[in-house]
Amino acid sequence: MTIRDTVLLGDPRLREEAHGVVNFSDELALILEDLKDTLTHIQKEQGMGRGMAAPQIGYPKKVVYIQMPERSFYLVNPAIIWRSPETFMVWDSCFSLNAAFFVKISRNKAIKVEYKDEDGGKHIEEFSDDMSELLQHEIDHLHGVMCTDHLTDLRNIVMKEEWEKRYRTPGIGM
Ligand SMILES: [Zn+2]
Repeated sequence: MTIRDTVLLGDPRLREEAHGVVNFSDELALILEDLKDTLTHIQKEQGMGRGMAAPQIGYPKKVVYIQMPERSFYLVNPAIIWRSPETFMVWDSCFSLNAAFFVKISRNKAIKVEYKDEDGGKHIEEFSDDMSELLQHEIDHLHGVMCTDHLTDLRNIVMKEEWEKRYRTPGIGM
């Protein structure tokens, strides 16, 4: 059981392109375990957050972990292979921002993702709405992109306390 420190905005590691996983060895097992332990810990402490990407805990690898009440799974080497033309506006934040503020940004309403599971099995799956925006957020991390990069109007930044008072709804990208 290892809870890793979250890499915070300003650390150049968050801006690097992550490397694809080549062999599904002990090294991957360690990343999977640390991602799960760290996300579980943060969810308990902060009562929010649904996913985490390996670069956020210091592993420059293309691995994402999603942990929601209805579904928990790993995505290894995920790639978005299709985006719906339709977009929607979502409130987003990030553990790498300490969730200190939230940003309102545009995401594709649906995406198709090609990924491997932790055993190397290949999947192509379509995701919509909450899962679509969540996976866009997490896969962005694998390419050095932060949710704040998607801001088109800097007035769409809200401090956490105000966001909780005014906008909080179940399910938020992080
Ligand atoms: Zn994030």
